[in-house]
Amino acid sequence: MDLDLFSKKSKLQSTSNKAFFKKIKQKKIRNLDDLFHTAHEEVFEEIDCLTCANCCKTTSPIFYQKDIERMAKRLRMKPFEFIETYLKIDEDKDYVLKQAPCPFLGADNYCSVYEDRPTACREYPHTNRKNMYQILDLTYKNTLVCPAVLRIVDEVKEKLE
Ligand code: SF4
Ligand code: SF4
Repeated sequence: MDLDLFSKKSKLQSTSNKAFFKKIKQKKIRNLDDLFHTAHEEVFEEIDCLTCANCCKTTSPIFYQKDIERMAKRLRMKPFEFIETYLKIDEDKDYVLKQAPCPFLGADNYCSVYEDRPTACREYPHTNRKNMYQILDLTYKNTLVCPAVLRIVDEVKEKLE
């Protein structure tokens, strides 16, 4: 994965992508979920996340209480120690990582806590979830983080334009 190229391309496309999301918000497309889910399947058949890990390198998942308890247990820490060591509270009052890249990301792009990773990591980049209308702003933001999302949005655009 050429992340420099992705970064340039995603920035170049950001204005047109923003306009696209604005347009679909106004249109209320009934099969939007299907369009995203089909594109998600196609794109992830071709993309190997282990060659990328840009999400883990640049953004933080939200850590819910259950995530904190599970990860603390894995690391043989008390939940409060886990919070003190790794987390801070962001502007939305959610627990997120203090630092990027994620401290659990290896140099080989493997996640060292994979089986116990936060739910938000499991669900990222959310392009196969129900009711995509609820997360259009987030999906636009993810076009600037995730090469797969940029391609998924390109495919959905192609089908609608
Ligand atoms: S989910 Fe997206 S950003 Fe994360 S590793 Fe896969 S392609 Fe890269
Ligand atoms: S916990 Fe694992 S999957 Fe989640 S951001 Fe860190 S390295 Fe990535």
